[in-house]
Amino acid sequence: MTTIVPTDIVTVFTYSRGRHRAECSCGWTGRARWIQGSAVVDALRHSYDTGCREDWPLTVHCSGATTAGAPRRRLPWWVWTTTAGSIIGAALFYAPTARADAVDDYAATAYPVICEAIAEKPYVSTVVDVVDVIAVDTGSYEFAGAVLGVAVRDYCPWNRPPVERFIAVYLPTEPMAVA
Ligand SMILES: [Zn+2]
Repeated sequence: MTTIVPTDIVTVFTYSRGRHRAECSCGWTGRARWIQGSAVVDALRHSYDTGCREDWPLTVHCSGATTAGAPRRRLPWWVWTTTAGSIIGAALFYAPTARADAVDDYAATAYPVICEAIAEKPYVSTVVDVVDVIAVDTGSYEFAGAVLGVAVRDYCPWNRPPVERFIAVYLPTEPMAVA
């Protein structure tokens, strides 16, 4: 049996044109940067200083940048990922307990998009991004985590590896620093 050691992961997020920032699951965030390369340097330096791992790909576009219309109420991802990790894990390995019908309905509708997004970029950062998009759509990160877990369990189990990595990363054995 292999033991997965949770490692914090640093990612460079592009929120909009000219707005980039390195953020790490350990709670650290870099400064907002006009130039993406500056945020990349921040991320590499943080990785070098702390041993937190670089995400791959290192740079991701936040889907919010392309979400037109409704104002987004995003939580910083390091606030919700631990909760989502446990919810996704529960949904992936067992049956979701809360609002099961609503979760199933949403997953049945959204699974093509969810499964394709993860298959296309099977990375932890994609899982983060997908949960975030669903949460903004539904108003609940817990609901979003359950939806993602059910979608992968029932519709695209071949996408489990990055989701399981997400869970391994965001269910640390020690309490996580919350910014
Ligand atoms: Zn870190």
